[in-house]
Amino acid sequence: MKICEDGAVAGDLLGRLASVVGERWLVRDGDGLEEYGHDATFMESAPLCAVRPASTEEVAAVVREAAAAGVPVVARGAGTSLVGGPVPLAAGIVLSLDRLTEIEIDVPNTVAVAGAGVITEALDAAAAAHGLMYPPDPASYGMSTIGGNVACNSGGMRCVKYGVTADYVIGLTVVLASGEVLRLGGKLRKRASGYRTLQLFVGSEGTLGIVTEVVVKLIPRPRFQATAMVGFRRLEEAGQAVARALAAGHFPAAIEILDRGALELVADKLPPGFEPELEAVLIVEQDGNDEEFVQLDLMKMVEVLGGADNRIAQSSNERERLWEARRSFGKVLMSMPKNFFAEDVAVPIGQIPEMIRRVQALAARTGLRIVTVGHAGDGNLHPTILFEDAQRDLISAAAAQIFRDALELGGSISAEHGLGALKRDYAELEHGALGLDVMRRLKRMLDPQGILNPHKVFPEQPADDAFLESMPGWVPEPDRRRRKAELGL
Ligand SMILES: Cc1cc2nc3c(=O)[nH]c(=O)nc-3n(C[C@H](O)[C@H](O)[C@H](O)COP(=O)(O)OP(=O)(O)OC[C@H]3O[C@@H](n4cnc5c(N)ncnc54)[C@H](O)[C@@H]3O)c2cc1C
Repeated sequence: MKICEDGAVAGDLLGRLASVVGERWLVRDGDGLEEYGHDATFMESAPLCAVRPASTEEVAAVVREAAAAGVPVVARGAGTSLVGGPVPLAAGIVLSLDRLTEIEIDVPNTVAVAGAGVITEALDAAAAAHGLMYPPDPASYGMSTIGGNVACNSGGMRCVKYGVTADYVIGLTVVLASGEVLRLGGKLRKRASGYRTLQLFVGSEGTLGIVTEVVVKLIPRPRFQATAMVGFRRLEEAGQAVARALAAGHFPAAIEILDRGALELVADKLPPGFEPELEAVLIVEQDGNDEEFVQLDLMKMVEVLGGADNRIAQSSNERERLWEARRSFGKVLMSMPKNFFAEDVAVPIGQIPEMIRRVQALAARTGLRIVTVGHAGDGNLHPTILFEDAQRDLISAAAAQIFRDALELGGSISAEHGLGALKRDYAELEHGALGLDVMRRLKRMLDPQGILNPHKVFPEQPADDAFLESMPGWVPEPDRRRRKAELGL
């Protein structure tokens, strides 16, 4: 694969790309190109150029040019990935889908057809105008795109009741590495003819094809919601309460967890007088069409959850305020310098308390500040490591420990963020050699030149040293091995 080190080849390619998308939509070095070299993590890498095509046909033409030149193409939605997914590690062309923003709400068929660049919240708002709902709601849904959500099989707050992106996608238009346009599925809700090829592209992180259009199922929008914040004096009690409530047959629309560290970050958003000694809170929501039933159901669930300081929202303003505490966690994180690594493990529900205990023990042993939020109802925890520059050499091993713990408990190293670059080196721990080999064979079949989002998903170096070298300014410490051994990492 050429990376366009040859200036003449690069210049020629840029000219051809300009004739596909128009000079205005080709972003060259010096035109703000740095915007296309990073995501929401600390990773960054400069592309050769970025293109902003306006249609599937233009996307296909760009990919054909890239394939002919043997140059990498990295699809980009809004760049909110937490695993380095859209960072162009092999330079090449960043292909931004941000101009594909058409939305059609087909009410009689209760489906939506959306361009890959449609912002997730805008899609749900368009559905809401017809009394319908697009349920998957990543905490980033005000920024992320539906194309990015499909590429990562994103989850969110409502997924405990309603399922993740893969559960809603019924049609896709995908540009393959050859530049051919593949149309899969459509507006049909049921289909059992042939392989489920469509699902192969969901969660493929831009490595198998570029999604330009998505058809999703919609559901009737529940008319009422009731929300509570339930506080616990011990973090593990919160984990136990989630397992207890779900086992007792409660089916919440959302059940989110924030630990003490996370609560400190969003302290100004908590209800007045909220007990400061709490180690964790759960934000719980119930929804439905019978207002009285919804409220009653929530109150019963709060009773089962227990809790030392419980607040049940009495108005939509109070409801919004409780959610603001959870949603602002991401905003606070994004406003900090990028010295954080947001993990995304999943464990079976019954193992949540043990996973939490292990994360706490890791923080105590290493001195690292680890704050945890998560979609607890899905067993999905985001232990987020906030680190000082001097602690950089520990992050990789600490993250690896969290992955090993999750896998040991029957879990996954990624519930919803994907593997990207930051977790690719741990893929074999979860999938095994054969599982990974099958994935590699599929990749080779669909992208024989390896031009689609190279250096993602598949391991490239020993797991323990992963992503350290990608940190800007990282200087290896000579005594790293000794420190790791001392801390039992
Ligand atoms: C504050 C914050 C909160 C978050 N909360 C959640 C959460 O609750 N749940 C969750 O699941 N995620 C969450 N995320 C992660 C992130 O928002 C999701 O992974 C999201 O789906 C990425 O969408 P994007 O449009 O920003 O894609 P990008 O970040 O631009 O790209 C992500 C990956 O998808 C590929 N890609 C993008 N568009 C396409 C396309 N059209 N075709 C093919 N490949 C494509 C890229 O190459 C890359 O590999 C959060 C992120 C932040 C910053």
